[in-house]
Amino acid sequence: LIQLYAPLNFLGMAYREIKQALTDMEKMFSLLNEHAEVKDADEAVTLATSAAEVRFEAVDFGYEGNRSILQQVDFCIPAGHTVAVVGSSGAGKSTLSRLLFRFYDVGAGRISINGRDVRQLSQASLRAHIGIVPQDTVLFNDTIYYNIAYGRPDASRAEIIEAARSAHILAFIESLPEGWETPVGERGLKLSGGEKQRVAIARTLLKNPPILIFDEATSALDSRTERAIQAELAAISANRTTLVIAHRLSTIVDADEILVMEQGRVVERGNHRELLAGGGGYARMWALQQSESEREAEASGV
Ligand code: ADP
Ligand code: MG
Repeated sequence: LIQLYAPLNFLGMAYREIKQALTDMEKMFSLLNEHAEVKDADEAVTLATSAAEVRFEAVDFGYEGNRSILQQVDFCIPAGHTVAVVGSSGAGKSTLSRLLFRFYDVGAGRISINGRDVRQLSQASLRAHIGIVPQDTVLFNDTIYYNIAYGRPDASRAEIIEAARSAHILAFIESLPEGWETPVGERGLKLSGGEKQRVAIARTLLKNPPILIFDEATSALDSRTERAIQAELAAISANRTTLVIAHRLSTIVDADEILVMEQGRVVERGNHRELLAGGGGYARMWALQQSESEREAEASGV
């Protein structure tokens, strides 16, 4: 009976493993093929630059049918500069990052890097140049070490530890009974939203690409950790072309340009000082968030 049972038991395990592998694969393909019509052009050019100027020119876009999501969006991020985007939920902010990463192609207008339309670039080289810290980070069913190393698979262990330290997640990892070998993801330890964001930040620090996109990258962190990590993010974005989608306005006061979006359009633009002086929607949002943080500070007795 034992002889019969052992292979069955083995099969049971193999079945679970295969099923999990398929789930992971499905996830990967749904990420990769999010829109299969995005394909490399026949004579796609390989992007290779350490100084990237990103330009959106009169970009119109809709995900499906005739529902327009972006209208006439125009902005330029000179190499090494930072442009921030703010606006209410659903305004189209994350869509900008998906278009730059070319998960979708624009409906009209164009997006270019150093003057070259992203539709002419190979997707592999385009994506190698961009690091995204998204709103929701997908973890692989693997160790926390693998999940951070994924940012640059040839990185040394010392570099990976350094990235984790800068992303303020090293102490957490070291406190786990299995340390760096702890399995995470669906099958392993479930990380909180803030821990996942710090994994994504560590990955991006490791990848060290010329173009950075932070999409509400610190929104799940408490305000003290957010302030600490903000300094790291400011340091890596210093000489990089950066698109910041911001949740708390206090994190973008130093941006070279701030765009305020409403229903797919840029309705105000300028630097922090200019927008405050303009007394429009941005100035009102700023006043509101200032009084909120004062109330929080009072409530916590700081
Ligand atoms: P924001 O980041 O400013 O909150 P998004 O760019 O994520 O806004 O979304 C803009 C609009 O596009 C929203 O109305 C949203 O419902 C819609 N949208 C986002 N993703 C998709 C999708 N994959 N398919 C269809 N509509 C989408
Ligand atoms: Mg968003």
